[in-house]
Amino acid sequence: MGDVSGHSSELEHRGSFAHAVCACGWAGPGRRALARARRDGSDHATLAALESLPTVPAQAVRSVELGSVELGSGGLLAGR
Ligand SMILES: [Zn+2]
Repeated sequence: MGDVSGHSSELEHRGSFAHAVCACGWAGPGRRALARARRDGSDHATLAALESLPTVPAQAVRSVELGSVELGSGGLLAGR
């Protein structure tokens, strides 16, 4: 089910630990339990799928932040 969004994680072993590594470059924390590492990978795929949904207009948020900065500096200049 984690492969639906394009994030497919595999387990990578390091010593007595294992961690999930995703095709997108994400890597989970080292786990002693393989099931735990697998779960990290599926959790990451789920979160990534949720974040890729266009629910939050990030560009709108950025423009608002930039606008407030411009207004702030403009106010300082006007005060002088
Ligand atoms: Zn990923």
